[in-house]
Amino acid sequence: MLSMLQKSFVSLTKSRFEYEVLPAKLLEPDHVTTSNIVTLFHPKSALLNVPALFRVGDMVNTGQKISLFADDPAYVIATATGRISSISPLTGDYGKSYLALSIHIAEKQVLDNEFETVVQNPTLEGVINFLAFAPGRPPLSIFADPQHRIKTIVINGVDSDLLIGTNQYIVKSKLKAVKRGIQILKSITGIERIILTVAGESLQGYGHLGVEVKAVNTTYPSALPELIMKNVLGQIVPAGQRCEDLGVSFFSAESVAALGTAFDSGRIPLTKIITLIRKDNSQKLIEVKIGTPLKHIFAKYGLTVNEKDRIIFGGPMRGLAVYSLEHSIQPDTDAIMVLDQSQAAYSSNYPCVNCGECVRICPAKIQVNLLIRFLEAGQYEQAADYNDLLSCVECGLCSFVCVSKIPIFQYIKLAKYEIERTKTAEAADG
Ligand code: SF4
Ligand code: SF4
Repeated sequence: MLSMLQKSFVSLTKSRFEYEVLPAKLLEPDHVTTSNIVTLFHPKSALLNVPALFRVGDMVNTGQKISLFADDPAYVIATATGRISSISPLTGDYGKSYLALSIHIAEKQVLDNEFETVVQNPTLEGVINFLAFAPGRPPLSIFADPQHRIKTIVINGVDSDLLIGTNQYIVKSKLKAVKRGIQILKSITGIERIILTVAGESLQGYGHLGVEVKAVNTTYPSALPELIMKNVLGQIVPAGQRCEDLGVSFFSAESVAALGTAFDSGRIPLTKIITLIRKDNSQKLIEVKIGTPLKHIFAKYGLTVNEKDRIIFGGPMRGLAVYSLEHSIQPDTDAIMVLDQSQAAYSSNYPCVNCGECVRICPAKIQVNLLIRFLEAGQYEQAADYNDLLSCVECGLCSFVCVSKIPIFQYIKLAKYEIERTKTAEAADG
């Protein structure tokens, strides 16, 4: 793995983008030692004016469920024993709100035992109550949603962005945990149709899992859920709908392995596999405790970040910039990419020159050059109604090829977020 993931960037030419297929035999990831603090992002709810159940100064144990507000399903799992040193508001991508809860780690670690009752008697409710914050963030709550009847689970063994090896590593090296996770998923949901997707042509070595195994084309963005729906399951996801609306739920391979590990060990897994993509373009797999601040990881690997360098959570196509070394690893952080200022593609104020590159490369066949005009003007409803905004599969290719460096992908994400927020507010108003 080391040699595989320490080579240069695959070349990102404008005509074709390929996922890397990792070799079958891989080295274990580097283990990053624990920092003295972990910071966990607790979703912020409308219940903020009611008294919080945890306060600064409270002690928490390793593996303890921390739900800040009564009657609120949101929670985080303490990934270390220690005293809560701060709880502060945090604005995430596109205005999402969190409470950043920091735990100053104590010398003596004490394990919380509450999850043991679920291990003895696995139920859907118990798993939702304790494993939604597990590595890979398994989307468990969908099975309790009366609006959705899930009939198929797809376990994605291919990472959704380029240069990331996290889920391929899990499929190649943690199959025992994946198998156990599949058994748990089947028993708590009753769903029999489970499909594992793997990169490239080789389908060998997965027969004992008891699932259908399907190959995903290595051309980007074939591993995105909408593309898997079309090319592997033969189902088109209509604009404005999600895979779940068609009865299909996507899990990352790591999240399924986490379910398996939780039930085999009796403990909630607390560490995350991450692909670290460094400034010299080398890639490395690391295993790190959820909540670890970036600065701790960067110090270990001697990474320095200068003023105009860029830190991206995720890969080159779909990743999002973060602006603080205090930012920490969350259950769904699959990659950290550090770009030198000379590599960072800065957005500009240049207008669209109608070159057509974005239209030619768009897998959803959207007239992106027209769509961007509505998005730049903040006319999101029009973009959705007349310009196929909701057909976008969020691959990021249009931004990558745009000669005017218009941040098209960011405009699209923001527009979708705003439309969803308006819909939710209207539904709440009745
Ligand atoms: S991100 Fe851009 S290229 Fe990708 S589907 Fe959406 S509009 Fe098309
Ligand atoms: S790639 Fe950029 S400049 Fe070219 S048509 Fe698309 S939005 Fe306009």
